[in-house]
Amino acid sequence: MDVRLSQEQRALQDAAARLVADLGPRTVADLDDAERRSKLDAALAATGWRELRNDASTVEAAIVAEELARGLADVSFIGPVLQLVAQPGAIRAIARPVRDMAADLTGAFAGIPADADIAVGLALTCADLVGVMRGAIDLSTAYARDRKQYGAAIGSFQAVQHLLADAFVAMEGSRSVALHAAWAVDALPPADALAAAAIAKAYCARAARSVCETAIQVHGGIGNTWDCLAHVYLRRALTAIDLFGGVGPNLDRVLTDFLRISPTPHGKPAESREGSVDFSDSPDEAAFRARLRDWLRDNNPGLPASSTSDAYWAGQASWHHALFDAGFFGLSWPKAIGGHELPSVYDVILDEELATAGTPPRPSLGYLVQGILEHGNADIQARFLPGIVSGQERWCQGFSEPDAGSDLAALRTRAERDGDDFVITGHKVWTSYSDVADWCLVLARTDAAVPKHKGLSAFVVAMDQPGIEQRPLKMINGMTKEFGEVIFDGARVPASHMIGDPGDGWRLAMTVVSHEREPGELGYVARYKKTAHELTESVRANPAAYGAEQSRDLAWAIVEAEMLRLHVCRRLSDRLDGITHGPEGSVDKLLMTQVEQAVGHAALSIGGDEASLSTYLYSRAQSVMGGTSQIQRNLVATRILKLPTK
Ligand SMILES: Cc1cc2nc3c(=O)[nH]c(=O)nc-3n(C[C@H](O)[C@H](O)[C@H](O)COP(=O)(O)OP(=O)(O)OC[C@H]3O[C@@H](n4cnc5c(N)ncnc54)[C@H](O)[C@@H]3O)c2cc1C
Repeated sequence: MDVRLSQEQRALQDAAARLVADLGPRTVADLDDAERRSKLDAALAATGWRELRNDASTVEAAIVAEELARGLADVSFIGPVLQLVAQPGAIRAIARPVRDMAADLTGAFAGIPADADIAVGLALTCADLVGVMRGAIDLSTAYARDRKQYGAAIGSFQAVQHLLADAFVAMEGSRSVALHAAWAVDALPPADALAAAAIAKAYCARAARSVCETAIQVHGGIGNTWDCLAHVYLRRALTAIDLFGGVGPNLDRVLTDFLRISPTPHGKPAESREGSVDFSDSPDEAAFRARLRDWLRDNNPGLPASSTSDAYWAGQASWHHALFDAGFFGLSWPKAIGGHELPSVYDVILDEELATAGTPPRPSLGYLVQGILEHGNADIQARFLPGIVSGQERWCQGFSEPDAGSDLAALRTRAERDGDDFVITGHKVWTSYSDVADWCLVLARTDAAVPKHKGLSAFVVAMDQPGIEQRPLKMINGMTKEFGEVIFDGARVPASHMIGDPGDGWRLAMTVVSHEREPGELGYVARYKKTAHELTESVRANPAAYGAEQSRDLAWAIVEAEMLRLHVCRRLSDRLDGITHGPEGSVDKLLMTQVEQAVGHAALSIGGDEASLSTYLYSRAQSVMGGTSQIQRNLVATRILKLPTK
């Protein structure tokens, strides 16, 4: 499994982007320029890209379709249909039967099975929608940087930043499902390719309309004028949404597929598609999957999907030990600390198989491991990491305080030097699993004289000592084991247990929280998929008991959970080049939150029992813990979209 674009595919992407930048429309008036359009048409014909599908290379065709849509190319590429967007009033005229559309988009392929036709059409319209979203976001962020109101760029207003951040996140999720849909056409049997394409189309269709509406909103009055390109993006989106059906018919198809077939086809082990986007297992990965599947058959502890009942926490430690002892934990971490040094994408396989087997997800400790690997010296790593990875020593994270949550640097817990020790005094809150932890990663102030985030240091503090008092907190779903308050009153920690140097605490905290925002690090895909499978089973067992609204809620939960699986495939594939850490974790956190809360809504809608209510209530925490959704949107807006700060 490696879903990075190959070098050739990147070159194709660049070439398509250049072509449309040179000859595509830059203004609405350009859409009437027949000479420009015929030059674009001739240049596109000369590339041979219209024949890409003849080589059964849907991923390449999708790459070109996306770039052409981003630049609003107004000539036929995957069919003549998208030309219609330039003509006012034309978009609703294209509601022709799906079979005709398939002929338009797949022309030369008349005669292949209908499912395959439709899968191609859906995959390529998804690519078009992703391109439209990227173009609309580019247009709007550029405008938001320039346009001034109240003496400031509108892009510095948080309300505008959050609109654009949400648009970007929706586009990123769409990119992950669209890439998979294009791959599936080439690699999976037609019925499975169609199932993948339906998921992608439902997701992209909802996202694209919303993103293009945002583009109009960000442009204000100007966005409502004919001469602003924002409505051209919206028209193009509406066209591509209509083709092969938008949200409704594809959600219905998702539901039918999930109630009928196995939800996660992986394709044959891929020896032949080297150097190209590939979601299927290599022979080694397939062997690992088979070994894991065998083991899971006999070792399912039968616990809930984590964090939604105290029963999970009662059995979590032995589940961790079992996974570790069997060689299925810490797959990509160094062997020296108990890991297996496998490529990062093995975690995708682990999460998929845990979900399919209905076991709990893997314990979520990656953020601690990554933080200590990056900032701890050799002694700290050797002393603490093996215990974390094996599960023999349990940890909690003492960052938040009553008056320092989002503004973590405002924390007041002090660490004062006393001989070879530091003495800790302060009050931590919402500290997850503190009651069972052997160690706490404490962020404390060691220097009050410097700017607030420069005066922080990080320590590994033993929890079993006289200067520490635990006060359990009950969560809104009634759980008592999730988190608590921890009062430090003269607790001692050896100076050698400081991670990094004095004043390095902020850097460590940022590494830890950025990994804490990554579903690939946490293994949460398994958690959401497990719940979605269980809800699907309930509906499958008695379909007549559930109405249309409940079915829709379930279908969205399935679509969202699958989106996250595919998104994690993308992120962990990127890591095959080594971990680079940037603000993308905030995009992932927002996507993960969207999934958890969609699954929570489905549980509320379908479950109808105490456990389902608990799952729903717990899902509300996902937009708060690890940094709230508002803080993630701030980061996406300023660090990725480069919108100005006031
Ligand atoms: C289940 C759970 C587990 C947790 N586990 C841990 C743990 O193990 N260790 C730990 O240290 N902490 C933990 N936390 C705490 C968590 O990190 C904080 O709750 C979180 O960072 C938010 O801080 P706060 O609660 O003080 O909210 P506040 O920061 O007070 O925020 C309140 C509201 O104001 C908004 N807001 C605040 N600042 C801004 C801004 N600049 N722009 C826009 N909106 C803003 C927020 O988005 C939020 O909606 C956990 C929390 C939960 C719910």
